[in-house]
Amino acid sequence: PALHGAASPPLHDPAAAARPALAFPDRSLTYGELAGAAGAVAALVGERARQASRRVAVWAAPGPETAVAVVGALAAGLCVVPLNPRSGDKELAHVLADSDPDALLAPPGAELPGPAAGPERLDVVLGGPPAPLPPDTAGPLDPALVVYTSGTTGPPKGAVIPRRAVAATLDALAEVWAWTAEDVLVHALPLFHVHGLVLGVLGPLRLGGALRHLGRFDTAGVARELNAGATVLFGVPTMYHRIAESLAAEPELAKGLASARLLVSGSAALPVHDHERILAATGRRVVERYGMTETLMNTSVRLGTESGAAAVGTVGVPLPGVELRLVDDDGTPLPGTDGAGVAEGADRTPGADGADGPDGADGPDGADGESVGEIQVRGPNLFTEYLGRPDATAAAFTHDGWFRTGDMAVLEPGGAVRIVGRRATDLIKSGGYKIGAGEIENALLEHPAVAEAAVTGAPDPDLGERIVAWIVPADPQAPPEAGELADHVARRLAPHKRPREVRLLDALPRNDMGKVMKRALDTGSPAPVT
Ligand code: ATP
Ligand code: MG
Repeated sequence: PALHGAASPPLHDPAAAARPALAFPDRSLTYGELAGAAGAVAALVGERARQASRRVAVWAAPGPETAVAVVGALAAGLCVVPLNPRSGDKELAHVLADSDPDALLAPPGAELPGPAAGPERLDVVLGGPPAPLPPDTAGPLDPALVVYTSGTTGPPKGAVIPRRAVAATLDALAEVWAWTAEDVLVHALPLFHVHGLVLGVLGPLRLGGALRHLGRFDTAGVARELNAGATVLFGVPTMYHRIAESLAAEPELAKGLASARLLVSGSAALPVHDHERILAATGRRVVERYGMTETLMNTSVRLGTESGAAAVGTVGVPLPGVELRLVDDDGTPLPGTDGAGVAEGADRTPGADGADGPDGADGPDGADGESVGEIQVRGPNLFTEYLGRPDATAAAFTHDGWFRTGDMAVLEPGGAVRIVGRRATDLIKSGGYKIGAGEIENALLEHPAVAEAAVTGAPDPDLGERIVAWIVPADPQAPPEAGELADHVARRLAPHKRPREVRLLDALPRNDMGKVMKRALDTGSPAPVT
């Protein structure tokens, strides 16, 4: 049957009732137990949803109650607003005021901060009397979720995600990752973003597979689960970085990774240095995929192509059903990048390093096809609107329905997308060149004295912008010397990509997903080293 909704067919299938669905450190649920508990939630919350919005907030702590609450509310035809249980008072108050939920579902023991007292609190009880899960009658464009963006570039915005988008993304990933009911997924992602919740919880449930959630990330847990038969690992780059750092000292970790069927990274760019260290120690390449709260998943490296050297540092090709194009600053599609997805193996414009090249004007740089442009996408995976922000919604779409991602990229020969960075923070216009921060960060991370690196542009009277490298030294007692880092970058990339300024930090400002908050770097100015 055509499943337009966010539904999980195995939850309605008596034959699947004994299969393992979810395992958290303190509690596991079979499909039957999950359906019974979610049915009870559906009955409880379905009554309470009185407003036309039919939204219900879920206290998305990393536990089975979150999955039960989300599945139950979706089955009741409601729209789920996952709340970050670690958000501060101000952030939480913003999300609650913005989304105005009818009720708030939380585990009985959870201590909620003051601003969460607004909506009626309902307890999500495991092991209580089960109730039948109502059939999913929601339509494809009914909202499934309001997920708040990560707040990397500004205050988080609530993206209204229709049921069709959840189904489209999960079905596309199942196809390209050969993801099935036999897979056992392990992850430790937070459950209030798309990555951990839509891919990491609703993904296995839609297929009838199992999720083993670590509660909190540690490399020993990853090693234990993969060696015990988990087949798939989802992580953000900070987790793969920790893995890369730990491989030498933890042989069980390397063994586990080598035995996995699929290692996936997303939510931010995976540094090439980490990618290569994992490959060297395990023989496995991490598969990168690219998505956003607003679009769910757009692209992924395809299985079978991940071992090609060309795949390293790219986020692969558009998923089935997703159209992707690159446009210049005027919104004009770049030659050879326009159109109905990118066929695999299609002959694409050559030139791997499109962020290069003097570029007097703001358009694509030159006739040789080395063009960096903004990614626009279209397809059934898209959100419908930013909640309560008609102006932001209108600004985010072209008149013919393409979503402006704000991410800049080039297309590799063969069609893979190489993300250069965000238009707002990662594209540095210096001395007539457009320079992507990511490749400089990758080069800096190869320096043994560098533990973490972020690159920004600072206003400069001569260059327009000058390249600033924010460095967390591997050894705070022996920080790298600025001139040496600049030479290191210039040798690897090109002289004009050398950082003009190096600033040392104890840690990079990161959000809950481990994403570097570059806007905090620009304001939090410690004294320059050079
Ligand atoms: P906000 O929109 O509030 O500023 P955000 O964009 O970080 O925050 P998300 O929707 O969680 O919020 O993240 C989507 C962004 O993450 C993408 O636009 C892209 O910049 C980045 N991203 C996701 N996956 C990848 C990837 N594999 N490689 C590089 N960047 C990625
Ligand atoms: Mg964003």
